[in-house]
Amino acid sequence: MTQLRVNQSVIEIVQGDITQQDTEAIGNAANSRLAGGGGVDGAIHRAGGPSIMDELRAKYKGCPTGSAVITGGGNLKAKYVIHAVGPIYSRSSKDAKLLSSAYRTSLELCTQHKISSIAFPSISTGVYGYPVEEASRIALDTVKEYLKGHPEIKLVRFVLFDNKTFKVYEDALKEMELIS
Ligand code: ADP
Repeated sequence: MTQLRVNQSVIEIVQGDITQQDTEAIGNAANSRLAGGGGVDGAIHRAGGPSIMDELRAKYKGCPTGSAVITGGGNLKAKYVIHAVGPIYSRSSKDAKLLSSAYRTSLELCTQHKISSIAFPSISTGVYGYPVEEASRIALDTVKEYLKGHPEIKLVRFVLFDNKTFKVYEDALKEMELIS
């Protein structure tokens, strides 16, 4: 585990399974139809049970790329799931803005719902093809900037499933520590 302190808050990097996290909220890498799918999205719906999809269908008609919506956590330890829609990597300059916005909107939902801890997966770097080196810097920079102005969020944990992705996030966080 590696940590970076931002004022009174902490950014943490761990290798593991997001469905097992005990943070108040977990982030999901959702698609814009909020239709469920493979990867981390499938794992969260399987572990959380059908109430999450029921709530998504009842409340939302999809979610634009770069935004996020919130539901309860069903059978998960986390009380909430924040379904963030990252971009499909297209090599356009919009990719970075949309990825950053997916994380920022998720953090804004935390503030609105008085959620002080959240665990995120690596949004967009699976099936959506975003290179992990770039995505990790965007994710960490976005969270760090948000935490500077939002001490109400105490913990943001990145939970990386595979060792390669974990190492890339760990290096990106260490790099940030050196320049901060
Ligand atoms: P996207 O479509 O946004 O790229 P994916 O689900 O395909 O989303 O992948 C995003 C990341 O989530 C990948 O690094 C993948 O390895 C990881 N992942 C898959 N299952 C889990 C899990 N249970 N916990 C945490 N991360 C996971």
